[in-house]
Amino acid sequence: MAQIKYTNQRVEILDFLKGNTTHPTVEQVYEAVKKKLSRISKATVYQNMKFLAEKGLIQEVNIKGVSRFEPNLEPHHHLICRKCGKIFDFESKELTEYSLRIAKKLKGMTIEASNTNFYGLCKKCKGGNKSFAFEPQN
Ligand SMILES: [Zn+2]
Ligand SMILES: [Zn+2]
Repeated sequence: MAQIKYTNQRVEILDFLKGNTTHPTVEQVYEAVKKKLSRISKATVYQNMKFLAEKGLIQEVNIKGVSRFEPNLEPHHHLICRKCGKIFDFESKELTEYSLRIAKKLKGMTIEASNTNFYGLCKKCKGGNKSFAFEPQN
């Protein structure tokens, strides 16, 4: 792995994201890190997160046009609740392989990764509604 300078800021950001499955936005990470490093700015948090994502220590995912970050570096997909906004990870090797196989046929671009977002209602939000709903797998 590339040599990375572990500044306090980066350590705090990584610490907050470790084991975090909520896919926080920069705003949310900033709010958390600010409690430890009161003088840190949002721009600094953002730059550091971009840096860490570039170095492959965290992953950036774009969901509905919003950048979110997570420590889960394994290829995986997302179940997104349209009501509470919760994002659940799930892994499906078949789905990843299938998407990549289809994408290969598209011209002009080398495909490196793929993740699919599924939208619906989570178990909590669906209430009496029997239409499409999902449960997190773990
Ligand atoms: Zn929900
Ligand atoms: Zn995820």
